[in-house]
Amino acid sequence: MSQNDFILKLLNITDTNIKIIDCINQNHRFEVRAKLTYAPFNCPNCGFNMIKYGFKSTKHFLLSLNGKAIRLNLKRQRFLCNNCHTTTLSHSPQLLAGKNVTVALNNSIVQLAKDSLTIKEISKIVGVSATTVSRSLYDNITFRQSAKVLPVNLCFDEFRSTGSDMSFICCDADNDHKLVGLLSNRLNKSITEFFLNQYSKQERQLVRTITLDLNAQYQTIVHRLFPNAEIIVDRFHIVQLVSRALDKARLLATSGLNHFSREYKVLKSEWKIFHMQESSLNAADSRYYRGLGEYSTQQNIVDLGLNQSDDFKHSYEAYQSVLEAIRNNDIDALSKAITHYKRNGSPMDIAMNTLKKNLSYVLNSSRYSYSNGPLEGINRKIKALKRGCFGFKNQMHFFMRIQLIRA
Ligand SMILES: [Zn+2]
Repeated sequence: MSQNDFILKLLNITDTNIKIIDCINQNHRFEVRAKLTYAPFNCPNCGFNMIKYGFKSTKHFLLSLNGKAIRLNLKRQRFLCNNCHTTTLSHSPQLLAGKNVTVALNNSIVQLAKDSLTIKEISKIVGVSATTVSRSLYDNITFRQSAKVLPVNLCFDEFRSTGSDMSFICCDADNDHKLVGLLSNRLNKSITEFFLNQYSKQERQLVRTITLDLNAQYQTIVHRLFPNAEIIVDRFHIVQLVSRALDKARLLATSGLNHFSREYKVLKSEWKIFHMQESSLNAADSRYYRGLGEYSTQQNIVDLGLNQSDDFKHSYEAYQSVLEAIRNNDIDALSKAITHYKRNGSPMDIAMNTLKKNLSYVLNSSRYSYSNGPLEGINRKIKALKRGCFGFKNQMHFFMRIQLIRA
């Protein structure tokens, strides 16, 4: 193996038509001088034999080595056709036509972007300017607004995108949770247009379930767009709704209490224990609770808080019955917990009322195994991407990056 091959290997170049002439160690980067030539071929225009016709130099960016940028100064063979006077420049699979970013460099940029790195960070790692990174990244990926085939089970959600806009996101509930649609706003009009334009009536009729959260206003359009689909309210949102109501009721119960009383201390600081499933409370082992300032058991703490206020106890029981029914996928118990709830003027009334209004959709959460868990995962990644990149000014760039981290 010649020295030339070693250098090519080091630079990640597999094209053996490239011959290294020199490596120059400049202050902040290496300049590699090389030649690209091969045997003449037939003219693409007329089929005549071409001849070698001098060289032309082009400059390219290579992936940095040990943090030092590398520039490739390539002398490329030109070919001439004596018949029709066409000239062509030699080409290598390592080079992107008309671009000075090499294929390997472009691939590394895309790979780093998938890891949610900012353009500046990528630029430092690969050793080219931020502008070049941005151009090579956003020019080479095409943003697909919709999936080719409409999945049968869908999840709907929304997330905060550029500025204070809320964007709509839809993904496949099965099959690796592939992204189906990404829209810049969450207006019913835009969502309706999107599905009507992208998918045929037959395709939309095949959709079986749509999982969404309760506060969304999508219910009204779902039936029009997907006539055969069942709406499932995401189970985590149901639990979230009642647990927020429980927190409000807990804070109400503390009002008027002496701040040094044990009841106030447990209600104020041991809130986590009130959110636990009642059947999993530990009544045997005591440990020190800092908020309370004494040794106690989980069961004791709950009893102390519940004895303080009947209203809070009522809310707690309602919360527990919903939680238990959802954990056990028990449709009857869930239905009973919601319809048998007695109003008492506490914050839990509003939560239960919301569940009651959407009862059949809420019960579907126990009938089907689908939830918005996968979308929440995607949303977490989107948040991390946004935080890491200090937000995005250009929404299209943001959406392209979302598509990349999902790829
Ligand atoms: Zn020709």
